[in-house]
Amino acid sequence: MKQTDRFKEKNILVLGLAKSGLAAAKLLHSLGADVLVNDQKPYEENEAAQELNSLGIKCICGSHPLHLIDEKTDFVVKNPGIPYSNPLLQKALELTVPILTEVELAYLISEAPIIGITGSNGKTTTTTLVHEMLNADGQKALIAGNIGTVACEVAQTADSDSVIVMELSSFQLLGTNEFKPKIAMVLNLFDAHLDYHGTREEYAKAKGRIYQNQSEGDYSVINLDDKEASRLAQNSKADKVFFSVRKKLDKGACLHEGKILFNGEIIMQADEIVLPGKHNLENILAAVAAVKLHGCSNEAIRKVLTEFKGVRHRLQFIDTIDGRKFYNDSKATNILATSKALQAFTQPVILLAGGLDRGNEFDELKPFFRNVKALIAFGQTAPKLERTAKEAGIALIQLTDNVETAAAAAFEVSEKGDVILLSPACASWDQYKTFEQRGDMFEAAVHKLK
Ligand code: ADP
Repeated sequence: MKQTDRFKEKNILVLGLAKSGLAAAKLLHSLGADVLVNDQKPYEENEAAQELNSLGIKCICGSHPLHLIDEKTDFVVKNPGIPYSNPLLQKALELTVPILTEVELAYLISEAPIIGITGSNGKTTTTTLVHEMLNADGQKALIAGNIGTVACEVAQTADSDSVIVMELSSFQLLGTNEFKPKIAMVLNLFDAHLDYHGTREEYAKAKGRIYQNQSEGDYSVINLDDKEASRLAQNSKADKVFFSVRKKLDKGACLHEGKILFNGEIIMQADEIVLPGKHNLENILAAVAAVKLHGCSNEAIRKVLTEFKGVRHRLQFIDTIDGRKFYNDSKATNILATSKALQAFTQPVILLAGGLDRGNEFDELKPFFRNVKALIAFGQTAPKLERTAKEAGIALIQLTDNVETAAAAAFEVSEKGDVILLSPACASWDQYKTFEQRGDMFEAAVHKLK
């Protein structure tokens, strides 16, 4: 960990605990800051606050009194999910107190270069691919983000010959000032989180912060096929490296005549890749660009791409049983995600879908039902999905109780060569605690079939 004096004896308010606030408060305390924590959960139920208290850190829990911020406050470190409309943050803005997220701390103390990955979709998949490829190459790669550990915790264990692969949300990036990844990428831009950012422009600007401090010697990896995402890097002072699934590129990563190329060199045949879906090809090209810029061998890339079956619950290949391929895409909690999953297959698909009813209809799925030969529906939205499937002309439709009975029902009606795909297009909370639990139950049911 790089020692820094900049937080010593500074008055810092950590707003919102969870994993990231807990890690940030501990780190700042160890750096000699005068830390005050404020969290919504009452103290008696708040294990994190109790832990911090035992370290001598003062915690105010259960409410957010405005006096916690005043002229003496030097910084606020906020949980990324807390919106700027929060009264305490409004007061910080009025008093021009800098508001940071813990990824800024991670950058400031990190001895290792950072590969920063953001975008509306594909962050976790790309971050995982980059991490696995660098590890397969024998490099000391550490992962931080949704599927890993809190960035400022990882940064404490990193030394100068490691590299931190960091998944970054727009919320996290908004709380950065000096954050400067060695390699940065915005994978794509779709409408997302507009409730938080207000407008699409503000959302895009937040993502664009990943490139803003980059300088000579750094690399901005840019999706040439996404105009809006590309534009975010136009003022970057780093070396620009593109990726494209559509165009042949002399510099950067592309797909050309069924081959994955980087700077014109053939890395591998695209048909050797296990991970399905055109959208995943974009993630793969972005990952290839990043790891090649970090000196990764073609063998390591090929090894990962011929074995990697997907991040858990994201179009993840489970197994083949009697010629039927099973996939778990439980993370597909909306129509867009399920439509991406359906586009990934040319074989006949038995779709397992349904879940929490948010009041929407499923008509937008119809154009993607081309290969769907059967629908097995469950959960609150089962009758709505049944109606949509009928209108789309799907002959075989069954309503069932849950993902376990759905797996068995799908196997029953399937034939050799079919894909059996759990891609619910709905959140899981009507029947399951999380989409992960739903996916786990499905996987267990598939293994039982075997
Ligand atoms: P994130 O971490 O950004 O949520 P994930 O890698 O977890 O992304 O993928 C979530 C879902 O987003 C996938 O199941 C898929 O439906 C969709 N997706 C993934 N990558 C892309 C991409 N490059 N373009 C469009 N959609 C994608």
